[in-house]
Amino acid sequence: METIRLIFTLLLGMTIGSFLNVVAWRVPRNESIVRPGSRCTSCGKEIKWYDNIPVISWFILRGRCRSCGAGFSVRYAMVELLTGLLFAGIFLKFGLTWLFLKNAVFMSLLICVVLTDIDHWIILDSVSLGGIAAGLAFSFVPGGVGFLSSLLAAAGAIILFLVIRIVSKLILKRRPGYTIAPEGHEDETDEFQGGMGWGDIKLAGMIGAFLGPSSLAMALFIAFLSGALTGIAAIIAGRNRRLPIPFGPFLAFGAAIAAFAGQALWQFYLTIGF
Ligand SMILES: [Zn+2]
Repeated sequence: METIRLIFTLLLGMTIGSFLNVVAWRVPRNESIVRPGSRCTSCGKEIKWYDNIPVISWFILRGRCRSCGAGFSVRYAMVELLTGLLFAGIFLKFGLTWLFLKNAVFMSLLICVVLTDIDHWIILDSVSLGGIAAGLAFSFVPGGVGFLSSLLAAAGAIILFLVIRIVSKLILKRRPGYTIAPEGHEDETDEFQGGMGWGDIKLAGMIGAFLGPSSLAMALFIAFLSGALTGIAAIIAGRNRRLPIPFGPFLAFGAAIAAFAGQALWQFYLTIGF
């Protein structure tokens, strides 16, 4: 029975992952997420249901459109697989409880954040603000963080990120145009100048609402550390240091680790006591 449930959560996650691919592709382009059905982005031909099975279809068709042979990025299959594995992991940790639902929603939102931030430098308001509302609502479920913790962590994260934004803007004011806007975003140079965008600020609020204060602290620590290390590695590898790197994926990464292991990491931190 347990195995059947595990497989069910894996398949459920893969299906949700397929939906997240659609959301991340269509919503930033102002397209409907329900209509029309999935189409090849190259020839426009409708993709039949049997060619649209998460992960499996990609491998059967070897990542190509059945009609025109255009390649589909392996990323779609990877997102579906990752979502499936995350859902299965949540099930193994929490069982089929309210916390499964809460964390499944949380992971889905975070995956959406990663996809749209990498592709378009945006974090959808429906994800971040909707996520704050969802996080607050889930604070009431059995095993949830409690409403006050959820609210305090959300507010605290937003204030912290606002302060970071204001301070980094003040510092970079002396060096106008220091940050180079990424390709296709040249008209938003000012928004990129000095780090934390509005999307990151709202996302931090969402992570706080879901995790509560202690796991939020853990998530932010991991996010800033992994972001800094990646930034340093990228510069060593020859990337222009004036080019920004989207921070949403690092926040999502930290949040995912904290959601799975936050309490354990927090206990460990208190034990070593510094
Ligand atoms: Zn095609």
